[in-house]
Amino acid sequence: MKLILLGPPGAGKGTQAKMLTEKFAIPQISTGDILRAAVKEQTDLGIKAKQFMDAGQLVPDEVVIGIVSERLQAEDCANGFILDGFPRTVAQADALRDVLNELGKQLDKVLSLTVDTEALVVRLTGRRTCSQCGKGYHIRFDPPPSDGRCVCSGELFQREDDQEATIRNRLAVYDEQTSPLINYYRQAGLLVELDGMLAIAAVQERILSALQAG
Ligand code: ADP
Ligand code: AMP
Repeated sequence: MKLILLGPPGAGKGTQAKMLTEKFAIPQISTGDILRAAVKEQTDLGIKAKQFMDAGQLVPDEVVIGIVSERLQAEDCANGFILDGFPRTVAQADALRDVLNELGKQLDKVLSLTVDTEALVVRLTGRRTCSQCGKGYHIRFDPPPSDGRCVCSGELFQREDDQEATIRNRLAVYDEQTSPLINYYRQAGLLVELDGMLAIAAVQERILSALQAG
């Protein structure tokens, strides 16, 4: 299964990708997670990416395209993968098409999650993530255990770019640079549009039905 999860920040891509990863035993490739790990480790990539991420801007195409091209060639991608947060520009989508062609692979589906802007702001300001295992929570919609820690007992943190001003920038960047991909993949016959406003479990059910429909 070779999938893209498409949608604005806060649409639920990471939440759904984690469930799909478990169900189909294929890796989640989140460019955001890869970049945040690089920032934490202060690698050359992390140092370069940090200024863009803090401002809610996209990291330059050539940087993320390089990361994903390499990642897709890893052995654990042999049976499929879930791209989460990539591609985010038409240039990235074109590069992905070329890389997959070279690898003799084809995308199965692009799952596009649609969510109202104000709901996205509420989701992102309430998002918390486990510093140990990476599991995501929402203070209202998917609350952590009563001790305020993750089920793995790790400490939860709030992402720096989940402050309202940065969120608004990220949503504007999505509208401008990423939303054209909806038409891009519609024209390629790969797009499945899903109502991302539904509860987490209901979105998951719809995704699974769409995948079963072939
Ligand atoms: P993305 O990866 O698209 O940026 P996330 O999966 O991290 O989004 O979800 C953003 C926040 O919204 C998280 O706190 C998550 O728990 C919550 N969330 C995800 N899906 C839903 C949903 N269907 N309904 C309500 N909250 C959701
Ligand atoms: P995310 O975790 O997907 O919300 O991404 C967090 C941040 O990482 C974004 O705001 C961008 O700065 C950067 N980023 C993640 N994926 C990409 C991508 N495909 N292209 C460019 N920048 C990205």
